[in-house]
Amino acid sequence: MSLWLSGIGVSRGIAIARVQKLHGGDLEIAEYTVAPEELEREVERFRDAQQQALAQLREVRSKIPAGTPGDIAAFIDTHLLMLDDRSLVDSTIGHIRSAGINAEAALRRSRDALVAVFEQMEDPYLRTRRDDVEHVVSRVQRVLTRTERELPGGGQAPLTEPTVIVADDITPADIILLSQQAVLAFVTEYGGPLSHTAILARSLGIPAVVGLHNARRLLRESELVIVDGEHGHVLADPDDKALEHYRRKQDQQVQDRRLLQTLRDKPAISGDGVEVRLQANIELPEDAAVAEANGAAGIGLYRTEFLYMNRKGLPTEEEQYQAYSRVVSAVKGPITIRTLDLGADKQVDSGQRQGPTPNNPALGLRAIRLCLKEPELFRVQMRALLRASAHGQVRIMLPMISSLSELRQAKALMAVCRAELVREGRAVADRIPVGAMIEVPAAAISSALLAREVDFFSIGTNDLIQYTLAIDRVDDEVNYLYDPLHPAVLRLIHMTIEAGHKAGIEVSMCGEMAGDVRYTRLLLGLGLTDFSMHPANVLEVKRAVRDARVGELRSKVADIMQAASLDDFASLLAAL
Ligand code: PEP
Ligand code: MG
Repeated sequence: MSLWLSGIGVSRGIAIARVQKLHGGDLEIAEYTVAPEELEREVERFRDAQQQALAQLREVRSKIPAGTPGDIAAFIDTHLLMLDDRSLVDSTIGHIRSAGINAEAALRRSRDALVAVFEQMEDPYLRTRRDDVEHVVSRVQRVLTRTERELPGGGQAPLTEPTVIVADDITPADIILLSQQAVLAFVTEYGGPLSHTAILARSLGIPAVVGLHNARRLLRESELVIVDGEHGHVLADPDDKALEHYRRKQDQQVQDRRLLQTLRDKPAISGDGVEVRLQANIELPEDAAVAEANGAAGIGLYRTEFLYMNRKGLPTEEEQYQAYSRVVSAVKGPITIRTLDLGADKQVDSGQRQGPTPNNPALGLRAIRLCLKEPELFRVQMRALLRASAHGQVRIMLPMISSLSELRQAKALMAVCRAELVREGRAVADRIPVGAMIEVPAAAISSALLAREVDFFSIGTNDLIQYTLAIDRVDDEVNYLYDPLHPAVLRLIHMTIEAGHKAGIEVSMCGEMAGDVRYTRLLLGLGLTDFSMHPANVLEVKRAVRDARVGELRSKVADIMQAASLDDFASLLAAL
């Protein structure tokens, strides 16, 4: 009999295949005393296991195929760092020596202490770091207890039959290994849209449903299932009618993807001849190739904070210069590089910062505020960026600008760095456009003033929506209020586009809204002609642009913006 199960759909697509369960997540750990003269041997046993676990992870990292989005390797790098971190290694050795216990039990004590720290964190994103601790520790425990994780294909013949993996949770390393086999979808009992499984599955383009409680109990080994990664449904033992329905849907999706590919080299021009620029957001130098493969016309947002994350210490000027130059040389069109946006949802050192945690990190010392407070940090990055500008069309973008004074201070620092570099005889491009991200309501409201002092705007809707509607973007409890179509948000976007265009500067949008095809017509109607998005969305948005008649959309949207009531507003928007 068929069985419908619902979880959270986190990676689009339909898969029809047989279940293969992943076991071995929960390990039985025994605690026993070790004789004093044996303790150093026990410490050695732990060190060996830790080294073996490190070697396993390094091997996984080396197997990541070229062209894979950079965030995938970044997950493994985080685990490599944690596995080598003193807070884990030293405390475990400390427990072995002081409590006179076996390595497994000592490691469990370290794990409990670390997990407790992460669980106390308010920020849901940082709480997901708890999963990292679990994954890293269980890898060492498996080496210590000599229990292999029963990874299909792991060590034996790789999976060849199309498979849906069902697990309590899947480590990033296992996802990478499994994605190179015949795995068509992932279903996990734990996790949410921000979990590692979700992020990695999306990057790899594999359908996934997470948070499906009791999935391992309810689904039988080898039974046929349909996974709908968009709606979060899993249908076990489907009847012929359901199979036919989903096979048809699956065929449509495959065809659709093929059709989209044919747009890759076609221009993004609307049905009535308006030229639109579709660029890509990237996070690591390696992503530039992925952006180009998806037909992006340059890079509209390069988030540089990833260079600072998942590592010990700060990147040097030389290291940053090498990284920026590599991307700048690889990108054919212009590349907009955003200066450091650390703080709030983007922490360094896995969130283990010095000092007390601020009550409202999103309203605290983040992005441009942090850079102006710590000019040396900013100076190192600015010098690297200016040096890289000699290799291509670099534009520099400042995040979280809320006042003219921040803009002026940043530009002054930039001028000082330029003068220094020129004195040192280093090459710097003659003209480097400087732009402000408009992601704080204050900046949108004063955009006419800001526009006089910058070369371009880029609207960061992820933060603009958070700050306008007073909704923490990473707090699941208030996610339901996160609404890009809220009239207040649309008015701020409209105001920014108008102010920019009136001042004769370019206005782009690089928040998630720009890559969501549901909003393309609305944004075109609001006057936006410059979009930057996740590379995977470029072709879908291009199709919507080519199908649109911008002139008509502009007059319709003008009416919507004048709507007298919220109800009128909503119904006009729905009919757009
Ligand atoms: C935004 O806020 O919309 C944005 C693009 O920046 P980030 O998501 O990196 O904060
Ligand atoms: Mg932002």
